[in-house]
Amino acid sequence: MRELRRRAQACPTSAISDIFESKAVATAEKVRTVCTYCGVGCNLEVAVDSNKVKSIQAPYDAEVNQGHTCLKGRFAFSFYDHPDRIRTPLIRRNGELVPATWDEAYDFIAEKLTAIKSQHGPDFIAGISSARCTNEENYLMQKFIRAVIGTNNIDSCARVCHSPTALGMQRTFGTGAATNSIEDLKYTKCIMIIGANPTDAHPVTGAKLKQVAMKGIPSIVIDPRRTEMAKYATHHLQLRPGTNVPLLQMMLYYIIMDGLEDKTFVASRTEGYEGFRQQILGLDIDKLEQTCGVSREQVRAAARTYASAEAAMSFHGLGVTEHSQGTLTVMLIADLAMVTGNIGRRGVGVNPLRGQNNVQGAADMGCQPHQGAGYLDVTKPGVPQPVRGVLPR
Ligand code: SF4
Repeated sequence: MRELRRRAQACPTSAISDIFESKAVATAEKVRTVCTYCGVGCNLEVAVDSNKVKSIQAPYDAEVNQGHTCLKGRFAFSFYDHPDRIRTPLIRRNGELVPATWDEAYDFIAEKLTAIKSQHGPDFIAGISSARCTNEENYLMQKFIRAVIGTNNIDSCARVCHSPTALGMQRTFGTGAATNSIEDLKYTKCIMIIGANPTDAHPVTGAKLKQVAMKGIPSIVIDPRRTEMAKYATHHLQLRPGTNVPLLQMMLYYIIMDGLEDKTFVASRTEGYEGFRQQILGLDIDKLEQTCGVSREQVRAAARTYASAEAAMSFHGLGVTEHSQGTLTVMLIADLAMVTGNIGRRGVGVNPLRGQNNVQGAADMGCQPHQGAGYLDVTKPGVPQPVRGVLPR
């Protein structure tokens, strides 16, 4: 059934269909929306009849997914109408949750928040927003918590999963967003995937990465697991869990040792390089090799592939960011891109694979305690974060 469902939209004779009969369903109303399951953000076309979802198709004119979706986006929609779905606000009275009207709920919330604020102060209140919500909703949520309640206690999943990406990229590039678009895969000559399993976690982007690897474009997978992408990889660096930092330091070491830096780029577009170079060359390569458990020859070969490619793109996921050294790892990925000139043009760059469809927006809108909308430091209102080059750490 899994295979049948995968092929349902593409079967040219309609001999294979799916249990929702997606292709046969004719409804007057089609709603274009965005899948919220993962960070790819596939466009979906939802066939609606009498306010019920009848089927979901993937539009061919969608830039992100061009007729593709994974199983989740196309078929996992029955939850919206599930009998367990809560359809009215609930207020706990005498220990039990009882249905209430929206007016009652708003009055209850306002009364409780006002009482807590006047009794204990605004810092006794916190708000959690969501990277599955729109920019407008996220902006309003943080504005409410900051301007109405009066506290910076606002957070969201954007900070939890990828704050090391935001911070690491802000420190190195000045901004925490992906530097390139997925479309750039058409132009790349090398892909490096670190701490991510995109064919499972970001299936539509994963399929595009797989296509690139299957075309024979060199790929490097840095992951303790033998992921599907690892099976196609030119280099699979199967490091010990939690050792991304020494492995990337080894890659930098060999790129510098072998004179594979993009010297023009480094001289004109980075700062602090000489100190950085000395630090990297001063590292104990025996110790790094021992720590990460990958032979220096393997690392050197992968480093040469990445640095010699005309254009190399890197992708990273939670296997980078959900480690205590996540920020440093992201900075090293950015350093690799800068040292080799793989930034600022098509088919290159540093591309985090985010967890939800609007992680970037939730962070941009300021749904995190330390930074407001536009990444302004909450301790210095009105002063933008400093932009830093390759160094200092
Ligand atoms: S790849 Fe992600 S965004 Fe696209 S359909 Fe699947 S879960 Fe949804």
